[in-house]
Amino acid sequence: MQELSSDIQESMHATSAMTRSDEFRQEFAIGRELPSALQALERISMNFFWSWRPEGVELFQELDPALWQVHEQHPRALLRNVTELRLWQKAADAEYVGKVERFAAELDTYMAATEAKIDVGTDISTDAPAAYFCAEYGVHNSLPNYSGGLGILAGDHLKSASDLNVPLVAVGLFYRFGYFRQNIAHDGWQREHYLDIFQSDTAVESVIGESDERVTVAVEIRGREVLAQAWKAQVGRVSLYLLDTNLPQNQETDRLITGHLYGGNAETRIVQEKVLGIGGVRLLRKLEIAPAVYHLNEGHSAFLTLELAREQIIETGSTFAEAAGKAGARCVFTTHTPVAAGNDVFQPSLLRQCFSDSYLSELKLTEEEFFALGRVEPDNVDEPFGMTPFALRMTRSANGVSEKHGEVSRELWAEMFDGSSPITHVTNGVHPPTWIAPGFQRMFAEKIGNQWHEKVRDASGWATAVSLLSDEDIWHEHLRNKNLLIAFLRERSKRREIGLRDTINERLETSDLFSADVLTIGFARRVAQYKRWDLLLSDLERLLKLVDHPERPVQFLFAGKAHPQDDTAKRILQELMSINHDSNWQKRAVFIEDYDQEVARYLVHGVDVWMNVPRRPYEASGTSGMKAAMNGVLNLSILDGWWIEGDNGINGFSIESDVAGGDEAGIDVAEAEAFYSKLEDEIVPLFYDKGGDGSPHGWIARMRNSIETLTPAFSSDRMVSDYFQRIYKK
Ligand SMILES: *Cc1c(COP(=O)(O)O)cnc(C)c1O
Repeated sequence: MQELSSDIQESMHATSAMTRSDEFRQEFAIGRELPSALQALERISMNFFWSWRPEGVELFQELDPALWQVHEQHPRALLRNVTELRLWQKAADAEYVGKVERFAAELDTYMAATEAKIDVGTDISTDAPAAYFCAEYGVHNSLPNYSGGLGILAGDHLKSASDLNVPLVAVGLFYRFGYFRQNIAHDGWQREHYLDIFQSDTAVESVIGESDERVTVAVEIRGREVLAQAWKAQVGRVSLYLLDTNLPQNQETDRLITGHLYGGNAETRIVQEKVLGIGGVRLLRKLEIAPAVYHLNEGHSAFLTLELAREQIIETGSTFAEAAGKAGARCVFTTHTPVAAGNDVFQPSLLRQCFSDSYLSELKLTEEEFFALGRVEPDNVDEPFGMTPFALRMTRSANGVSEKHGEVSRELWAEMFDGSSPITHVTNGVHPPTWIAPGFQRMFAEKIGNQWHEKVRDASGWATAVSLLSDEDIWHEHLRNKNLLIAFLRERSKRREIGLRDTINERLETSDLFSADVLTIGFARRVAQYKRWDLLLSDLERLLKLVDHPERPVQFLFAGKAHPQDDTAKRILQELMSINHDSNWQKRAVFIEDYDQEVARYLVHGVDVWMNVPRRPYEASGTSGMKAAMNGVLNLSILDGWWIEGDNGINGFSIESDVAGGDEAGIDVAEAEAFYSKLEDEIVPLFYDKGGDGSPHGWIARMRNSIETLTPAFSSDRMVSDYFQRIYKK
């Protein structure tokens, strides 16, 4: 039922989008010529480098601040829509033109650098790069190609690979309708809608081959040749290739293969994964890129191993086993889920429909042999085809995304390895220039030096650098970020016209909403059972006591999406929306709709405490807490995922209970108790313990420790170095 309704909804809006005139784009041009003094802006807008430099963001913001908001920080939509008058005013503004020129020069210098910042060994080079495959990429909101953590992680991976100047190309899919946009209606129920990327001015360019033709690849799907064209997004020095089946040559249904990220049913998923894996390898061949190593970031792209094996067989005539061995020797796999049920599994009957006999016979595989590759127990015909077992079997190395998750994964898949599982781990990281607030970055540049982000790569050098910041510096910047956040949430809570959509945000007066003096706790994450949104609400009386405290109140900010097909999660959201007590809750708790990268940035910059209460051990890593930590926002977290490695007793707060085993309900009760006590007994008193100068020095000491210790350890520079030096290297 649920699946059906979501399918119908998707195909309905897709059909109506199809009938719109602009259903296919040759190019994403901005459609106008800029004054010559500002022409560099167009070039700057085509490389996402601008998005991780505060001066880059300011260039566009300053061009027209109001329009920048209207177009949701989309540079090319801004360049298309800014008025002629405003353009010429800025073209005549020497100071602004100077900034444009300086930034263009910075971009050129950045792009021209040739030296890698880390040693990548001898097998990997510009001619033989690492090829990174992922189903989603969260580079920037103006490229809406992600749903959440996995995509943001992939985006940060590319940015750090670029900053470190290491050879890497990336492959993904170009989703016409992306992931859903969220609003919460008056009844508290989540509503979803989609935007059409073909109606936008996305910063991608078509990939053109040697004889001036569009580069396309063909993949056999549903018994037909389906064509996919390639777009390229430039992420600093890294090229991100995105495959798109929305071509007039394809049948209507095939054009929608790359329609929705994680949309449709299992069949949609298989055909998308064929385009990504098989089409992706074929694209690299067309571009004459010969990767030394293929990184399967999560199992979605695992079919690429089949294509590599097929190439081997064609070349050498070998058996499948031999060919798969050779192919696998070039492939590494990262798993992201700590529960078996979180992994894609497909029924053999469905796979049979999606894979033709001829593909399997080219692989010299029978159907049964093929299905066996995706089973934990190859001979168990009742077991469906799992992308994780398949990827584990077909790659030379596998890793989880935190130390704990490595351990959990070894246990989870032990059966496949006769007890001695080789699964290791590389702990996730986040990209400091993307996630550290511009104000902090400016202060770092001033006190530490323009190249402060290079210092982050060396933990002891960074510690020395951070000691140059005074308590006042840190607190002052934090308060600025907090005030920005409050202004943002007031803006978001105001009554506004959003077409025919129903929304909870309809306040006329917002000045009584939140206060910068009040301890502010942020909780933003996917609404999924294991994230335990309901833990906070488990004792409403105690919660409201915290919120209503006369001298030392607490305020809460929430954001997060529920999967469109997950009604249980939507009910949790509805419950949260329905708290309507005779208390300050309405003034001190806000839910921000449509959690995305932009919302995440405001939140991790501006709250005082970042809360995370997953059920152990289901948080493979978690990355939002790392973003908060780098901004001096203190984590309050269950000891799970990355926080087990991060916590040092003073750089945040841990929620611990002494219930070891026991049932889930019992653990929930104990951890809720530990959570409330931690807040009441430790966090609230410390935050409000202010010195004569009005600043909470005990608190600031912890903020400093968080910035000092967690920034280098959980930077994506460290993560990408680990991948190159431990995983990509043979
Ligand atoms: C960082 C981020 C996530 C992942 O955060 P978790 O800690 O893994 O929940 C999800 N969505 C957005 C928009 C993010 O920026």
